[in-house]
Amino acid sequence: MKTKLTLIPIFLLITLTLSAQRHILSVPELPGYVTLKCDFHMHTVFSDGNVWPNQRVGEAWRDGLDAIAITDHIEYQPHKQYIPVDHSAAWKIASPIAADYNIILVKGSEITRKMPPGHLNALFITEPDSLVKDDFMKAVEAAVAQGAFIEWNHPGWKSQQPDGIPRMYDVHRELIAKGWLHGIEYYNDVEYYPLVMDMCRDNQLAIMGNSDVHGVISEEFAAPVYSHRPMTLVFAKERTMESLKEAMFARRTAVWYGDNLAAPEELAAPLFQSVITAGIPFRDDGKRIWFELSNTSDIPMKLSGGPEGAPATLTVPAHGMVVVRADRKFLAQPVTYAVDNIITGSNNVLKVEISPAKK
Ligand code: ZN
Repeated sequence: MKTKLTLIPIFLLITLTLSAQRHILSVPELPGYVTLKCDFHMHTVFSDGNVWPNQRVGEAWRDGLDAIAITDHIEYQPHKQYIPVDHSAAWKIASPIAADYNIILVKGSEITRKMPPGHLNALFITEPDSLVKDDFMKAVEAAVAQGAFIEWNHPGWKSQQPDGIPRMYDVHRELIAKGWLHGIEYYNDVEYYPLVMDMCRDNQLAIMGNSDVHGVISEEFAAPVYSHRPMTLVFAKERTMESLKEAMFARRTAVWYGDNLAAPEELAAPLFQSVITAGIPFRDDGKRIWFELSNTSDIPMKLSGGPEGAPATLTVPAHGMVVVRADRKFLAQPVTYAVDNIITGSNNVLKVEISPAKK
């Protein structure tokens, strides 16, 4: 008896020590909001994934995420010979672990159909069993009745859209007309669909990016090829489930994948400004000025198309600084650049104006 009692604290200590390595992410912010790092599309053994649900929480914590959704398929259970079909099981198993790790666990499911309509995640649902319906529209209706955020997943996935080009079908237009579609994956797994930027802009939908992980995340997005999984950045009033949901319906989202950020035009400029700072010129030789440009984020900023009298291209490294030497005229007018890795449309990147700080 005595032996058992002493074993308990040692076991707890080992558990805490093994899990105590969270990566802190530095990403752009929107003034007045907190940036929540999120992955809203992942699978477990309860559909076609290969991991137990609580592993998703540990992975998310180590990866520096704030919120996740486990979205097992409603209509596809390849492991059912060994694991019973239970659409709430993953959420039930992962919930207490999420509470221990301070991870916001959104309850979700993936409605899984042929294209059209394809695959759609229902997020913030309460009763996944109610989505088990032959009629697709009835399944979405049931989700929406629970206050769901409906995300159209990987619309250009080659298994369903062989040329990789996403297309809106009548069923998607019908969903939009009813107010039953709220976001589209611009980025999924390791691929992205440029036209989704325009679809979201034209239809007032949130742009989303998720891992759609089925195996172990650190193996599917392994270093050195990947420094982080693809994720949705959500600009919420607070770090709570309610604020997260409000922000998503209000379309305050961006997608971070590789060294790129995809964001709606109206959010892109403030996001860039939140991490890039131009210093006061520290040298002036009467013809040219020298000033520093620094970046506090994990995302290098790749500038091109600079005007005459300034560098044509500049990369401000992640957590780094460069010195800009430019014509003195830029004391009175901004230096203009395209930011090649901040994507605002299928054919557009962010344009910025940079002015050295005033003395
Ligand atoms: Zn999926």
